[in-house]
Amino acid sequence: MKLKGGLLLAALVVGGMSAAVNAKDLTIGMSIDDLRLERWQKDSSIFTQKAEALGAKVFVQSANGDDSAQISQIENMINRDVDVLVIIPHNGDVLSNVIAEAKRSGIKVLAYDRLINNADLDFYVSFDNEKVGELQAETIVSIKPEGNYFLMGGSPVDNNAKLFRQGQMNILQPLIDKGAIKVIGDQWVDSWLPEKALQIMENALTANKNNIDAVVASNDATAGGAIQALSAQGLSGKVAISGQDADLAAIKRIVEGTQTMTVYKPITKLADKAAEIAVGLAKDEKIESNASLNNGMKEVPSYLLDPIAVVKGNIEKTIIQDGFHSKESIYNK
Ligand code: BGC
Repeated sequence: MKLKGGLLLAALVVGGMSAAVNAKDLTIGMSIDDLRLERWQKDSSIFTQKAEALGAKVFVQSANGDDSAQISQIENMINRDVDVLVIIPHNGDVLSNVIAEAKRSGIKVLAYDRLINNADLDFYVSFDNEKVGELQAETIVSIKPEGNYFLMGGSPVDNNAKLFRQGQMNILQPLIDKGAIKVIGDQWVDSWLPEKALQIMENALTANKNNIDAVVASNDATAGGAIQALSAQGLSGKVAISGQDADLAAIKRIVEGTQTMTVYKPITKLADKAAEIAVGLAKDEKIESNASLNNGMKEVPSYLLDPIAVVKGNIEKTIIQDGFHSKESIYNK
């Protein structure tokens, strides 16, 4: 753990470093891409609760999708001398310098959910994101084994979006090669914004004279925008479409039949694990990993959790059983 401030030094001099003093002194800065999205609100509140239970203090800031805001918020946390930075990057390619600055100040860095490229990360915690993409494509293919497919990628600057696409292509490419599936369009949605997804889908429908059988959308927010466009053409429920995050709105759409599937990622497990890792890093403990990912600078020790495909038939056994959403909130109009 980093030596800081008079308080800890005083404790050391007077009576040795007691566990209580140690734990109280831990501070974590959590820098979040965008707290406006349902998904990240959940992550930050569960993370904070767990980290506080482990004796740390957490400062949370949201960059609302703005790269330079995120960099200056991280700089601010470095100046506050936090022990650990937990970062959900908006853009995984622009944080190398500010992370180098953090490392020079002895701060540990944990990338949360999204990998940060070319940066000296201490650890990465996430879900198996390639598997997410495979689950999306597998479910859609099981319903529409052939036809015209539209691929709707996520934010082009989010490393996860690339991993989702890689997973989707693991399943789709052999079917494309066989001629069963024809990709009639492929676009990425800036900042994962539903309104951009809506526009993209409208244009794709026009360009293809509504001749689209399936949409491989990478998350629920973008699926929501696309479904709005499909519905304006009387096509929602007819065109198979994937998602991710088990957002309440998406689960409701699955129940009513306008969205085919989502991918449920138990956020509590991720946020709890991340809090344990962050506190462990602050205490210089050895952290258990189950994977490693190359970020262009190094092999980053990682811990990846399993995602779960959700369709109408297993909402009860997954989302409801885990308490992710209550039965009432899903089925009450
Ligand atoms: C996350 C998804 C989320 C998306 C938009 C991705 O990096 O893995 O769960 O839907 O960002 O916030």
